[in-house]
Amino acid sequence: MKVRLVLLALLLTACSVGPTEPAKITPRAAPPPLPPQASELSEAPTSAPNSAPNCDATASLRPGPLPEPGQMPDGSTMAKIQARGRLIAGVDQNTYLMGFRNSFTGEIEGFDVELARRLAQAIFNDPAKVQFKIVTSAGRIPALKSGDVDVVVRTMTITCQRLAEVDFSAVYYQAGQRVLVRRNSGISGVEALQGKKVCATAGSTSLANVASKGTKPVSVPNWTDCLVMLQQGQVDAISTDDTILAGLAAQDPYTEVVGGRFTEEPYGIGVPKGQEDLVRFVNGVLEQMRADGTWVALYRRWLGQLGPAPTPPVARYRD
Ligand code: GLU
Repeated sequence: MKVRLVLLALLLTACSVGPTEPAKITPRAAPPPLPPQASELSEAPTSAPNSAPNCDATASLRPGPLPEPGQMPDGSTMAKIQARGRLIAGVDQNTYLMGFRNSFTGEIEGFDVELARRLAQAIFNDPAKVQFKIVTSAGRIPALKSGDVDVVVRTMTITCQRLAEVDFSAVYYQAGQRVLVRRNSGISGVEALQGKKVCATAGSTSLANVASKGTKPVSVPNWTDCLVMLQQGQVDAISTDDTILAGLAAQDPYTEVVGGRFTEEPYGIGVPKGQEDLVRFVNGVLEQMRADGTWVALYRRWLGQLGPAPTPPVARYRD
């Protein structure tokens, strides 16, 4: 009885002090969430291209004759990999065409991934003897420096700044930076992006390059995060290598690549410092791939939408 009285009293008080009309709720769509770790940069990333020392970045080490698969020279870095039974390669799983997970088979595939399989073929005579570790743009150099991976094959531009921390093979692909926008955006290239939000991954040369063009750079971990942000109207454009943009455009017909290349992005296979034998070995495998038509076949399979196969980059060596 006591409880009922208390309830009644509560109800009466609620009625007397409550609003006479129900509160009006204005329906407002919640803004789409940002991808994790997306951030608008207030200052240019430290890897700004002009902060790099000068060097002859694309000159690598001359290969000697390749050892037979399964017979890596005693004491060499390749012999250690052979003894382990698998090559460990840092690749991407978010860059369609270069390094991505095939959602039907669950396998990692793409141009870069096939290069890693070729290295495994050359060491073991078995392209399957490779363990893939997924690395973001920003994770490539740390993975090499910690010895977490033997090589990085992940759309990695050879720069003087990076050469201070890791070594590179000869150039295996010559990419260049362009711009991806929503169709009919009226944006025709990088010049039209002054003051506009432009997405690129943290730790990429692309982010530093767009920052130097007077844009508002937005950084994310993965290239697919940029595509989501473009689709959700959270950025005006994505800017990175034409290879990566081709893969993003292929996933969304409402986007288009505009403007010409405004940078040179020579790709190299990253190798930890102090492993000259592995650099020379990798360069030997690349030579072989250029000579026997493998490079052109890989280009046609993965990058054919960029146009007819160019001649593979000519290797340059410093010694
Ligand atoms: N090639 C550029 C770089 O190495 C962009 C590609 C990427 O980060 O995946 O920084």
